[in-house]
Amino acid sequence: MAINIMDVAKRRGFFWPSFEIYGSIGGFYTYGPLGALLKLRIERIIRDHYINRENCLLIEAPSLTPEEPWVASGHVESFTDMNVECTKCGEPHRADQLLEEKAGIATEGMGLSEIMKLIRQKGIKCVKCGGALGEPYDYNLMFKTFIGPGKNKISGALRPETAQTTYMPFRRLFELGRKRLPLGVVQLGRSYRNEIAPRQGLLRLREFSQAEVQFFYDPEAPVKHPRFSEVKPLKIDVVTKNAQKKKTTPVKMSIADLVKKKHTNEWIAYLLGVSVNLFERMGIDPKKLRLRQHRDDERSFYSSDTWDVEFMSDTYGKIELVGVAARTDYDLKRHQEFSRQKMSVNVDGRVFIPHVVEVAYGIDRPLYAVMESSAKLDGDRFYFRMPYEAAPYQMAVFPLVRKDGLPEEARKVYDMLIDAGFYALYDEGFIGKLYYRQDEAGTPFCITIDYETKKDRSVTVRNRDDQKQVRVKIKELPEILGKVMKGALDFSKAGKVINK
Ligand SMILES: [Zn+2]
Repeated sequence: MAINIMDVAKRRGFFWPSFEIYGSIGGFYTYGPLGALLKLRIERIIRDHYINRENCLLIEAPSLTPEEPWVASGHVESFTDMNVECTKCGEPHRADQLLEEKAGIATEGMGLSEIMKLIRQKGIKCVKCGGALGEPYDYNLMFKTFIGPGKNKISGALRPETAQTTYMPFRRLFELGRKRLPLGVVQLGRSYRNEIAPRQGLLRLREFSQAEVQFFYDPEAPVKHPRFSEVKPLKIDVVTKNAQKKKTTPVKMSIADLVKKKHTNEWIAYLLGVSVNLFERMGIDPKKLRLRQHRDDERSFYSSDTWDVEFMSDTYGKIELVGVAARTDYDLKRHQEFSRQKMSVNVDGRVFIPHVVEVAYGIDRPLYAVMESSAKLDGDRFYFRMPYEAAPYQMAVFPLVRKDGLPEEARKVYDMLIDAGFYALYDEGFIGKLYYRQDEAGTPFCITIDYETKKDRSVTVRNRDDQKQVRVKIKELPEILGKVMKGALDFSKAGKVINK
């Protein structure tokens, strides 16, 4: 039986359409109590990897900016989708999507006039009212606004990506990074895209979250990564650009093969491998991931090589989770040109503008992929099998009954666990219902304080995945749960098993 993630998400408060009381607008979602926590966990997995393992600098720039940088980056000119409106009801449609959906024609690489011709030829009408469609045109996806009042107000825009807000202070970052290359900079935050007709819930948002990492490097230095050996053996489905020409199916390849067979360089291969590992840590099913290289006709003109990690969703088909792109020196060069500020560096007497490899993660899409991958049905029981690192809460603490001093006892256990650094939750109620709620929240452990606790100073710990219950001494709880979560101790050996 297929589980409708959107339904569970709404019901349990992971996320829901925003502005509901005024009638929702497509492309805006609010994260509720569980979703906001899950999102924090996912962001932390990415952020900490790049700060700690890749020694990146973390920055946070405004998401509202002047318009000028987007002229430099090319977004003002070419950050567009093809819009076609109904002449009768005004409903907007993405022209390329309409042609794909209604006529089954692949539109990748097609221009406006070609798409227009095909829409006419196939007699495609408005999906809402059946009216005739007008002339398609390029529609800019940036949200524009003004900064400040009156005559001197400045044209502003909400950033369509974080990347440019990292490139602008490059020279300052280079100094702060002690003038060394490669220099990695990571930024997490909101970006905006005024989509024509967003559907598919969290997958296509007008306001979304990103984690983007920019590596600035010397184009003449050897393209080696010191940690490459860590991801070399990883095997995954790969679709190269050449394979897409021949329309062949994905081929299982190791990350080492990507380089050996000259599909890409060691650095891009490394970053793809790392991303797959991070997704797996979040709880995304690695069997549903694949690497896809952009074809020459879909790649941005300034990029020399671009790859996506895609998730093959049961509900939505392929979803792009992260893009790894060699952006050359295009962005820094353009900012140098438009701002008239120097972007070049001097390394050992050589003056040049660094090249950039970008790793651009969505956050909302991986979050959806985590939920779809971890949703399990065990008979009638539904639960999210989220990893300890990703689950909104790692454990929940309950008193068996709301009397006889058990709530006070349970609160003490709860305090001990949060003081030990665990993400714990305290709740009261009928135990069966509490278990059910925590299963739907993906909470790995439920800890119950009962009448025996006062005598034996022990509690019952229930494991989410197999519903096994063990008895553990209160004072040993942090250490034992810590070991189980690290994989150093099997849950069934965590204490005396009290059910089968
Ligand atoms: Zn219409």
